[in-house]
Formats: sequence, C-alpha cells, structure tokens
Amino acid sequence: MRLSPTYLLFKDLVTGLLITLRTFFRKPVTVRYPHEKVQVFPSFRGRHAMVVDPETGKPRCVACLKCSVVCPSRCIKIEYEVDEKTGERRLREYILEALRCVYCGYCEEVCPVGAIVLTEWFEYSGRCREDLIFNLEKLVQNWKEHVAKWDKEFYENKYWVLKGVPLKLKPAPRRMGLVVKIKGVKVDG
Ligand code: SF4
Ligand code: SF4
Repeated sequence: MRLSPTYLLFKDLVTGLLITLRTFFRKPVTVRYPHEKVQVFPSFRGRHAMVVDPETGKPRCVACLKCSVVCPSRCIKIEYEVDEKTGERRLREYILEALRCVYCGYCEEVCPVGAIVLTEWFEYSGRCREDLIFNLEKLVQNWKEHVAKWDKEFYENKYWVLKGVPLKLKPAPRRMGLVVKIKGVKVDG
C-alpha cells in the first residue's frame, strides 16, 4: 500500500508532538551553568598543574624528561641543571603550551613521581596565546588554585595508578603510592 505524503507528514508531526509532550513533564537534564555546577568525572583531564610537595613546598618534578619525550604534541619543554656533587637534576623551568596539548594524559601517566597532572579544573581560558603557555610558576599556581577548591583531604590522580598493570611492573614510587596530602599546602594568592 502506498501512503500519501500528507499522511506521512501528519504522522511525523504527531510523533514529534508526543515526544515533546512526554519530555515536558520530565525533570530537566540541562544545567544552568555557570550558576549551577556539575561534578566532573575522576578521569576528566583539565588544566595542567605541577604538584607541589606539601612538606617541602617544592614542585615534585625531578626533571627526568619522560613527559617531554612521550608527549605526542611536543608541547613540553624542560630546563634543568645538574648538581656537580650529587649528580642530581634540578628543575629550572618547565613550559607547557596548553593550546598545543591534545589532553591525552600520557605525561601524567608516565611521570614516575606524580608531578605533572591534568587536573579536574575545566573553567579556564586566555585572552591571548601567551595566557595558555604555562611556565613552572604558572603550573604551580594552577596546582595551588586547584587544591584550594579541593574539598577532600587527599588528592590522587586516576592516571597515577593504572588499572590492569601488575604492581611489580610499576616503578617504585608508584608502588608506594603518590597520594598528595592536601591539608597543609599553603596557598598564596
Ligand atoms: S596531555 Fe598534553 S602535554 Fe600531556 S602528553 Fe598529552 S599532549 Fe602532551
Ligand atoms: S615525567 Fe614527571 S618528573 Fe619527569 S620531567 Fe615530567 S613532570 Fe618532571
């Protein structure tokens, strides 16, 4: 049987109106952002930050360069100096171009000491390109701003402890856990 175009149009119209009617009495799924906030998922990758050791107040980075090597966008540049006596590396500068980042999270996964993180902070923007080039000072500031709003006592990034990887295959610091105690972190500005 061949259906007339008028019938098909009418049928679609009624179907559409019924869907509208049904949805009209349901609870809204939209959120009135920015007046209402949503809880982001623990796996969300937002603004980059450099974790500060709550005991020493210094960035956790040990300048191993793993993040810079693994980064597919080549957006991480690290400068360091080597202590002549101990041979230890000391981080001098860490620059991350957020506009080139593809938020893959490889940098935070590979970091053996849980230093660089993509925090759950999603409300950020910049007026110019330079605003989204984070140097060490800005990354540390990002971390302090993040923990200032963190309502739990501890912070642990989901990608620091990857599921499915046997414990013995994880680097030593990861076996010990990289949880950051938030209490005691001084936030200046
Ligand atoms: S998340 Fe961004 S900075 Fe980190 S490795 Fe991926 S592209 Fe590079
Ligand atoms: S992987 Fe971690 S410790 Fe190594 S350079 Fe990157 S942020 Fe620093």
